[in-house]
Amino acid sequence: MASSVPVHGNWIAGKWVPARSGRTFENRNPADVTDLIGRFADSDERDAKEAVDVAAEAYKSWRLVPGPQRGEILYRLGEILRDRKEQYARDMTREMGKVLKEARGDVQEAIDMAFLMGGEGRRLHGQTTPSELPNKFAMSVRAPIGVCAFITPWNFPMAIPAWKTTAALVCGNTVVIKPATDTPLSVVNFARALADAGLPPGVFNMVSGSGSKVGMPLLKDPRVKVVSFTGSTSVGQTINEACAPSFKHVHLEMGGKNPIIVMDDANLELAVDGSIWGAFGTSGQRCTASSRLLVHKKVVRKFTAMMAERANALRVGSGLDEKNEMGPSVNESQLDTVLDYISIGKAEGAKCVAGGRRLAGKAHEKGWFVAPTVFADCHRTMRVAREEIFGPVTSIVPISSLEEAIDVANDSEYGLSSAIFTQDVNKAFVAMRDLEAGIFYVNLPTIGAETHLPFGGTKKTGNGHREAGLAALDVFSEWKSIYVDYSGTIQKAQIDVPAGEASAKKKK
Ligand code: NAP
Ligand code: MG
Repeated sequence: MASSVPVHGNWIAGKWVPARSGRTFENRNPADVTDLIGRFADSDERDAKEAVDVAAEAYKSWRLVPGPQRGEILYRLGEILRDRKEQYARDMTREMGKVLKEARGDVQEAIDMAFLMGGEGRRLHGQTTPSELPNKFAMSVRAPIGVCAFITPWNFPMAIPAWKTTAALVCGNTVVIKPATDTPLSVVNFARALADAGLPPGVFNMVSGSGSKVGMPLLKDPRVKVVSFTGSTSVGQTINEACAPSFKHVHLEMGGKNPIIVMDDANLELAVDGSIWGAFGTSGQRCTASSRLLVHKKVVRKFTAMMAERANALRVGSGLDEKNEMGPSVNESQLDTVLDYISIGKAEGAKCVAGGRRLAGKAHEKGWFVAPTVFADCHRTMRVAREEIFGPVTSIVPISSLEEAIDVANDSEYGLSSAIFTQDVNKAFVAMRDLEAGIFYVNLPTIGAETHLPFGGTKKTGNGHREAGLAALDVFSEWKSIYVDYSGTIQKAQIDVPAGEASAKKKK
């Protein structure tokens, strides 16, 4: 019944409010498009401006709340998310398709971040260090920056907003987030949890709607001081350019084409297990998806046969059914992109050894399902071996040595995650040193980051910042260096003779 479909507003100043336009957009289940999950505020620049007004006002008091108190609210957030984990995971699976086990992991990542940054409220360490002059004290502290605007993707609909939000809030900033149009419900749920944790009104605000109508106005608002974006490299470039005129701090986390190197001494069972998980987890819609498998020629035939068998055996269907191992693509346009790349791979001469088609039949006809696809005998120059597909497609590229594998791996515009399967510790260390990526795994696939380590990539994956871990604090705070002189004189740094030099002079 249409009337039973929930309608969600924007979360501004601690209240749910409709978009100024009065319009809404639909959110549907990609495993069954007849399942209408809800209607969400179709906002524009007026709603974005109002949210920034509120966040700018709230900043005046939130920045003065002591760090430990900010941390306690985040700690409560973690507890609330833990209590609601199952419901929020089910909502997430329904809105974007990943299987329940993975959706629970996504909520868990938000819980982990809440506890990590909750604890950071009592640390937020700066430095104390001796001054070069007597009777003078020197230290550095982290200062908040102001209103932060977040633009987030649909593939980790709660984890990524939580990475950004918890780090920003513990530092004393306020937030306006524009969630991906495909996954507003997970951010609605996150906003509810934050409110129930006792976050004061206006400190965290959510405005749903499109990138152009809500995202762009946030980037142009002079009161927004920090922009943190996760999404595609092409949109990231647009965002970078839009922020440049007003010198905003910009943090970008973007695409990947992540290689796993499989050496001839690898435990092949383990390597195949890892490659299946890395390539087809979240239907390949992870920025860290293992989309290039660089396999030693001595084992590539066996590896390929094992991969094909395992890929063909994966159970694909609605993520709400616990028996299924892989869900759908997130929407029709993503499905079309994936199918286009499958055609491109075939036309380029890559050998399709598993999948390579849209899934039809009763369990799949209402959703955007693609069969897990493995291309073998790929050459490093093929588009399927170079471009981010963001779907359940992986490409096997044969290699003859570790040196060649590293060369192929680094021959990419991206540098997010990388991995090697080997039992030779020397090879593992060479790969660890030489792979150009922000994340590296030994005997694991390219997915599976933990929240207390920095997350992000090199080259066109990022712009030098990191998400998560304590590294995230650097995005959301500015260093303030402080000197306190209690000598009663104006001592001039670098000019007034330091003690050591004075005694050297006396000796002469
Ligand atoms: P996307 O198309 O770039 O969208 C990301 C966000 O940007 C969405 O909220 C989108 O809004 C918004 N947006 C689009 N155009 C905009 C514009 N002109 N101005 C302001 N905002 C705009 O990416 P996606 O398809 O959601 O996500 C997949 C991509 O994200 C992949 O490339 C993946 O590698 C990357 N990713 C990277 C990481 C990482 O940490 N490195 C993590 C996850 C995903 P709408 O939803 O309304 O379009
Ligand atoms: Mg949806």
